Amino acid sequence: METKEQNLIKEIKQLKEKRNAVILVHNYQRPEIYEIADFIGDSLELSRKAAETDKDIIVFCGVRFMAETAKILNPGKTVILAAEDAGCPMAEMINAKQLKELKKKHPKAAVVCYVNTNAETKAECDICCTSANVVDIVNSLKEGEAIMAPDKNLAAYTQTKTKKSLIPWNGYCPIHQEIKEKSAVLAKKQNPGAIFIAHPECPQEVLRHADYIFSTGKMLDFAKENTNKTIILATETDMINRLEKENPKNKYLSIGGLCPDMKKTTLEKVKEALEKNQYEIKVPEDTRKKAESSLRKMIAIGGKHGK
Ligand code: SF4
Repeated sequence: METKEQNLIKEIKQLKEKRNAVILVHNYQRPEIYEIADFIGDSLELSRKAAETDKDIIVFCGVRFMAETAKILNPGKTVILAAEDAGCPMAEMINAKQLKELKKKHPKAAVVCYVNTNAETKAECDICCTSANVVDIVNSLKEGEAIMAPDKNLAAYTQTKTKKSLIPWNGYCPIHQEIKEKSAVLAKKQNPGAIFIAHPECPQEVLRHADYIFSTGKMLDFAKENTNKTIILATETDMINRLEKENPKNKYLSIGGLCPDMKKTTLEKVKEALEKNQYEIKVPEDTRKKAESSLRKMIAIGGKHGK
């Protein structure tokens, strides 16, 4: 007999065909959400899939800024976010008004925004970045200084890799900010020989213990290429599910927490989203155009991965 979960998965797949929809799922989603995905990936990989799709509807299983990015890059499609209140606390830490004020204080600085920002904030920046391409983006600037918003940790990490002078905003991802140096030291001590990989949204005192500092996309590449390793991860814990899918022969341990917003998407909500065409993402056209320019400039410089 099929379980309730299996039934829901079946129904969602049928609805998806009927509505001519594509389902895009972020790496940090619940493992059962992976089962209904057409694509699983980081924010930029998913945006690119959204930009390329020939389906009528894009269902986003992630948080709002990701669905907004999909709409910005592919305005002709209906983009829906399955969990209406799935936001990103870091993206909410800066708004367009605050960024405008900061720009006034540093008129000569370029403005680089992490993809984890709202559309209005992206519209105020010169170029976007992801955690994978941030160093290339910053080094590509003609200006000697750059505002970096909103993540102070990503800015601090980037500062170690560039001669440009960076002006950070005081934002952070609460999940990565909570990862403590003592947890990293203890995990390494308890697992001698393990490889420690940290996400650049972690504080500097954690990053200093890392063997590698990788975006989630690069973590996946690493897991595909390495076998029979013990890997300690400093990022959102559910990333482990994705890594296990790619290479179950490695042992993965996490010192990170769970992002409550990423867990707001459930199978029930995805089914309802497809049935009711909810919750549709709208971005005013003038904002969309400006934000698109910042995103396209980033895409032109490259970097395969997002967050
Ligand atoms: S993990 Fe952090 S950056 Fe990602 S959605 Fe959650 S709060 Fe935002």
